[in-house]
This record gives sequence, C-alpha cells and structure tokens, in this order.
Amino acid sequence: MDFKFTEAQLMLQNVAKEFAEKEVLPLADIIDREHRYPAETFAKMAEIGFTGIGTPVEYGGSGGNDIDKAIIVSELAKKCASTAAILSIHTIFAQAILKFGNEEQKKQYLPLMAEGGWLGAFALTEPNAGSDAAAARTTAILDEATGEYVLNGTKCFISGGGKANAIIVFALTDPSKGLKGMSGIIVEKGTPGFTIGKIENKMGLHGSETVELIFDNCRVPKANLLGKEGRGFGMAMTCLDGARIGVGAQAVGIAEGALEESVKYMHERVQFGKPIAALQGVGWYVADMATKIEAAKWLVFYAAWLKSTGQNHTQVAAMAKYNASICAREVTNLALQIHGGYGYMNDYPLERMYRDAKITEIYEGTSEIHKLVISRSVLG
Ligand SMILES: Cc1cc2nc3c(=O)[nH]c(=O)nc-3n(C[C@H](O)[C@H](O)[C@H](O)COP(=O)(O)OP(=O)(O)OC[C@H]3O[C@@H](n4cnc5c(N)ncnc54)[C@H](O)[C@@H]3O)c2cc1C
Repeated sequence: MDFKFTEAQLMLQNVAKEFAEKEVLPLADIIDREHRYPAETFAKMAEIGFTGIGTPVEYGGSGGNDIDKAIIVSELAKKCASTAAILSIHTIFAQAILKFGNEEQKKQYLPLMAEGGWLGAFALTEPNAGSDAAAARTTAILDEATGEYVLNGTKCFISGGGKANAIIVFALTDPSKGLKGMSGIIVEKGTPGFTIGKIENKMGLHGSETVELIFDNCRVPKANLLGKEGRGFGMAMTCLDGARIGVGAQAVGIAEGALEESVKYMHERVQFGKPIAALQGVGWYVADMATKIEAAKWLVFYAAWLKSTGQNHTQVAAMAKYNASICAREVTNLALQIHGGYGYMNDYPLERMYRDAKITEIYEGTSEIHKLVISRSVLG
C-alpha cells in the first residue's frame, strides 16, 4: 500500500493550487453574483493544459489519468466549485470520445476539446427522465435517404449546454427496443433544429450554466453516432461512473476550502477575550471536519486509482461520490456555523460554498441512486 502522490502529482497539485489562487479565486464571487460563465478562466485552463487532462498527447491532450484529474478538480473547487465543475464536466465529453469514439471522431474532437477552443457537454436527463434515465424519450431516427439522424425531444438541466461546442446527446435510435434502442449522438452547436431553451436560475454553482436543450427535427450526419447503435445507455452509465469521481473531487475540494477558511477565521475572530480557535467546543467542529475530509479524500482517490489502473470502479466511485457529497454538505454547514453571522453574509465565501456543496448530492446521480448502486453491488 502506498498513499503518497508521486513527485509529478505533487508538482501538478502545486500548479493547480497556484492557478486556483491566482486565476480562480479573484473571480469566484463575481461569477457567483453575476451568474456568469468564466470564459476567461476556461481559456487560461486551456493554456495551462487542464482542459486536456486525461486526453493522450497524440490527440492534443496533456496526458495524465483520473488521479491527476481529481487533483486538479479538487484544488479548483477549494476556491470555486463552479470552475471545478466546468472542467470536470468538460472532460466527460473527451472521455466518452476516447472510450467509445472511432479514430475520425478522436482526431476531429479531442484536440479541439483539449486545446480548449471547444467546450463539451453531456446530455442524458429529460424532464421525465432524471434518476430513471431509461425513461428518456428523445429520438434520433435515421433518415436512410439523407444518411442523417433526425433528433426530436428535450433534454433538461444540462451543464454548459448553452456554451458547449459539441454535446453527447443520448437518444432513442430505435424506440421499439426501449433501453436497447438508446444511442449516443454528437450534436454540434449551431446545428439547425437545435436550440437552447430555459436557462435555469439555481441555488448555487452559478458560474456553471444549466440549460434546456431542444431538438426539433435536428439533423446530424450518421457519422456523429458514438460507438454502436443501441449501446447508448451502457455508454452513459460508464461515463457516469467516471464522472462521479469528478464530483467526489469537487466535493472534497469544497470541504477543504471551507475548512481552510474556518481555520483562518478561528485564529482571527476574538470572543470572550481570546481567538475562537481557543474555544474547545469550536475546536471539536474542526476535528469533525478534518476527519470527514480525510476519509472522503482517500475514498475519492481510491476510486480514481481503480479507474486509472483499468479496474472495475462502479461501486467504489458511487461510494466515493456519495460519501464526499455528504462530507461537503456537513463541512460547509459547520464552517458557516464557525463564522457565525458573518458566515451568513456574502462578504465571506461560506454561504457560496454552502450553496455550492448541495449540488454534489444531486447531479451525476442522487445520493439515493448511489445507495441503490452500492447496495445492489454488495448484495450481488
Ligand atoms: C445543476 C445541475 C446540473 C446538471 N447537469 C447535468 C448534465 O450536465 N447532464 C445531464 O444529463 N444531467 C444533468 N443534471 C441532471 C441530474 O443528473 C438529475 O437532476 C439527477 O439525476 C436527478 O434527477 P431528477 O432531478 O429528475 O430527480 P428525480 O429522479 O425526480 O428524483 C427525485 C427524488 O427521488 C429520488 N429517487 C428517484 N428514484 C429513486 C429510486 N429508485 N430509489 C430511491 N430514491 C429515488 C431521488 O434520489 C430524489 O431524491 C443536472 C442537474 C442539476 C441540478
């Protein structure tokens, strides 16, 4: 057993930490208040190679594996959960193309996504198909005469969908086969018949836009089929296994950021003639927070290690995300409490962290769905 990061991973962590401090933190409150996508930060993440993490160098990426990605995402999330989420979700597109795409698709999309000119998104959820993704009704019927898929339907709650240059849309290419008729189709921004619907106004994660996608006789070339027809549901589930490690890393980062803020505040804030760090009751909060974070962190990195070494990671990824998201909610709650009334004001980042933490229990599968995945796996 070896719980150490390699020298290269430690260097990457330092780079990510510095980047988060210098480029991400100054915008964190601004993008939260303005509900604004930080395009400038995304461009800088491209320059530094973060947008290509996990994509092989031969396709324009920075190389690296899921451990590296989790390191970057958690460092970003310490300062701004939205920025971390944007990067984490962006990389799902590339991971899907890498795993299921053909050589032309890899050559076409991976360099654009890695070098950061292009943003990717992943569209599975529909108004009546959330946890029950198998209930999706969007169709993509092949028009044999033109060699195009014709998409009709609506996807909702899609992160980055309004800004993305290309989106993997899961749709029924053969509705008569139900789940076995679902396929992944790559839809590019600007394709006629594809429009952005409602832009959600949400509790947190304001820098990451969440939108509705509407497909109305939207035609895409047959060449945009990802993998084989009818394999879409399995591909989506595989992508989510990996994406859950990313959400776990976001959750750990949010919690670590909240603990850092709390420690700083506890040494500065004086009550009853001494810094509140000297009050045993408040110190116990810190003990709880640090313990929860340590446990959550190593479960996330264990899942990342399993995935990056090619091992089955479905159960551990679900456990890691489930556990880390509870940790993020509980730790940000305690951190806000430690800040007292000031924690409730937006002069401090705690109320933002508290709002941002909640989403980690919902997206890429709710906690209840993770419990379903874990219990099924344990019970066999
Ligand atoms: C900010 C944000 C960003 C998102 N980004 C994306 C994205 O980029 N791409 C994408 O495809 N989707 C995205 N989603 C959708 C997200 O994955 C879904 O919201 C989530 O899977 C839950 O689906 P739902 O909201 O329809 O809730 P529902 O499925 O309606 O669930 C309602 C409640 O019932 C519980 N429940 C449902 N089924 C069961 C069950 N079998 N057993 C026990 N409890 C159950 C749920 O856990 C939940 O508590 C995003 C959502 C949000 C809020």
